[in-house]
Amino acid sequence: MESRAINFGAGPSALPASVLQEATKGLLNFKGTGMGIAEISHRSKEFTAYLQSVEQNIRKLLDIQPTHSILFTQGGGSTQFSAVVLNMLARHRLLHPQLSDEDRVLDYVVTGSWSKKAAEEARRMGGSTVNIAADSRKYSKDQKSFDNIPTADAYSFSNDPALIYYCANETVDGVEFSAEENSPASFPFQLLPRNALLPLVGDYSSSFMSRPIPHLSDHAIIYAGAQKNVGPAGLTILIVRNDCIVDVDAAARLGAIPVPICLSYKTLADHNSLYNTPPVLSIYITGLVLEYMLQLGGLDYYAGLTNRKSKKVYDVLKYGENKGIFKGKVKEGSGSQMNIVFDVLGEGLLAKFIAGAEERGMKGLKGHRSVGGVRVSIYNAVTEEETDLLISYMEQFAGQHKVDKE
Ligand code: PMP
Repeated sequence: MESRAINFGAGPSALPASVLQEATKGLLNFKGTGMGIAEISHRSKEFTAYLQSVEQNIRKLLDIQPTHSILFTQGGGSTQFSAVVLNMLARHRLLHPQLSDEDRVLDYVVTGSWSKKAAEEARRMGGSTVNIAADSRKYSKDQKSFDNIPTADAYSFSNDPALIYYCANETVDGVEFSAEENSPASFPFQLLPRNALLPLVGDYSSSFMSRPIPHLSDHAIIYAGAQKNVGPAGLTILIVRNDCIVDVDAAARLGAIPVPICLSYKTLADHNSLYNTPPVLSIYITGLVLEYMLQLGGLDYYAGLTNRKSKKVYDVLKYGENKGIFKGKVKEGSGSQMNIVFDVLGEGLLAKFIAGAEERGMKGLKGHRSVGGVRVSIYNAVTEEETDLLISYMEQFAGQHKVDKE
């Protein structure tokens, strides 16, 4: 245990050490079966009971009502970029069979690299018109960076779109919709039609389970890869409102794009997420993490922890900015609580900062290759004490270095 690094990586990321220790037992002998979790049938009664308990714990943690189903699949967030489009286009086709592709509109809110990719995939799939309901770059410092969450006047939603898409937390760029109800950086729920069957789709890959999801019950689909806050890569968790689980074959007969069988939410729902072999090991460890989270107090506990850790990092970033050493990449108020991105100013000082961190056992701090700089990811398993060690290092670094001002 002593040799474990402090892992600030953006995903896959840290998992609680006690959970990993517990997992080693299940790897050898799952629930007294004499077989390890990676060796046992996914149709065994032990595993199917376990899968149900994972579902129940997700329901408990996020307070999910029976209006929504929880589905487990593979393929990560990137596969959902295509799957949400196909399933929601099938639904729209069944609701409005007569519409032309041109009049079948998908609204995308583009606030960073991931939502941009999702919108590009929607365009690539065809069968609809992709409307960019907001593009935050228009409101950025240089018209091309993803450095902010725009205010409500930036959005233009369509009438009756097949989906309205947003990404809650843009891991690469470090911007995140605020969970506060009246913040200028919250998602503009108030602009959406008060329709009980709102086709709202949220990518929660990188903030899932860091705090409660605002307006969860208004969403058609919420999805997340497990590999940030809740488990190893391989598992994708879907929360789907029941009216969005549609007969995709009936829709295809009316002209909708045929949906590959494993991407159809109806296939997953009809087979309790066991149509084909699920990522058994990833589900197992995710289940252990969720139990651990419940023991600690659930999302109230984690929301508090997330607030405290991120506030401390933003405070020391500000201190470094005043010293002229650090420069945050994101506009104040739009910053992610999970991934904090900044530049280290001065010739060679970025490399020095990263090297100094490595010497102190802190890893995964290098920014995404597309934006550079430093990225501090403080997912759930990064403890407050570990965050404090980084903060003292940042403080010390900012105090010791000087940047010549022109
Ligand atoms: N969306 C977001 C917000 C992400 O952070 C990521 C992964 N970092 C993805 C989508 C893509 O997920 P995956 O790698 O699981 O396909």
